[in-house]
Amino acid sequence: MSAVVEKRTTGTAPGAAVPPSQSPTSSVPPVPLEHEDLVLHRGTRSGQYVIVAVHSTALGPALGGARLWHYPSTTDGIRDALRLARGMTLKAAAAGLALGGGKGVICGPDHAPTGGERRDMLLDFGDLVESLGGRYITAEDVGMSPPDLVVIQERTEHVTGLPADHGGSGDPSPFTAIGVEAAMRACARARFGSPELSGRHVVIAGLGHVGEKLARRLVEHGAQVSVSDIDPAKREVARELGAEWLEPTQEMVAECDILAPCALGGAIDAANLPLLGCEIVCGCANNQLADEALADELDERGILYAPDFVVNAGGLIHVYREIRGYSEEHARELALGIEVNLDGIFAASAEDSVTPLEAARAIALERLADARLERTAVA
Ligand code: NAD
Repeated sequence: MSAVVEKRTTGTAPGAAVPPSQSPTSSVPPVPLEHEDLVLHRGTRSGQYVIVAVHSTALGPALGGARLWHYPSTTDGIRDALRLARGMTLKAAAAGLALGGGKGVICGPDHAPTGGERRDMLLDFGDLVESLGGRYITAEDVGMSPPDLVVIQERTEHVTGLPADHGGSGDPSPFTAIGVEAAMRACARARFGSPELSGRHVVIAGLGHVGEKLARRLVEHGAQVSVSDIDPAKREVARELGAEWLEPTQEMVAECDILAPCALGGAIDAANLPLLGCEIVCGCANNQLADEALADELDERGILYAPDFVVNAGGLIHVYREIRGYSEEHARELALGIEVNLDGIFAASAEDSVTPLEAARAIALERLADARLERTAVA
């Protein structure tokens, strides 16, 4: 989960396929050092480096997942932690949550660690998280799964996103889907003058945890839904929903009102942007733009781009619920609030003649600056 468009990441999840948005050939670019903490420790059990970057706690404790990844060098792991932590600060601030931004990295070996080897790394990471005394709260990210969090929890209580049978809030995807649908209403209002999604044609690229739930909600609410997935087994879901099936090569160019990238990052790049057949881009995937500069090009082409880190905040809201002890109903209200949040971003974008992406970042940075001022005044 990252607020800013992620640059390409070096390395591979130990033993996992490399996501297309993450190239193994380039190194992670240098990141401006503006963070509160950067802690690097060589695990006493595993001998592997574990890292936590805390970008900001101005709004609250720094929250961000931990990534178990094989990096060509430890420096790449450090840069990734710094870069992703900064993104989390913006994401939480843009969502209006009392959370800061941080990120954890476990520099894994070049093979998939299992059994005792994996456990040692997770326990080492848990000790590091605990040493920060709650300034950083960890969660799941690439290369990790909920059972890994259960191991980390043996060493620290500062863990979120645990499985429901371990006292956690479980799968965040229903909340993410609620938030994306709410964001689509704001987009429709801004582009078509009405938030009504009934009768609108929505193309969902990626029928995974979020994509499928989003498709169900939209069909229920009367939208015309087309879906695609690289997994042909998802055709069955499309059939059940009565949604049109598109091959993954057709989805980006399909004529539609809303294109919802719901698979991996980098769905929109310089090559396919001129071919897009949609009026709006609004989906759950992180880092939908292969390059942030593409937000300007989308704007120039008259396509409304809803910043992904605002649209997909339902997942973070779900974790926030766990931290704050909110009811499910309250978390649902917060996820629905993404519509109002996005209304404000589109209004600021129009007023300041900037892209929605720039407007969202400006609003997030303003909230952070206000929080810092308040903190200074209290101090
Ligand atoms: P998922 O792995 O369950 O689903 C992704 C789906 O996309 C899979 O069915 C996969 O087969 C498909 N896919 C992959 N490449 C594709 C392609 N080129 N074209 C079409 N389909 C393709 O993941 P998810 O949990 O649904 O998350 C989807 C995206 O949303 C990710 O980028 C994730 O980081 C982001 N996100 C998810 C949540 C959440 O609550 N799960 C929250 C915030 C952001």
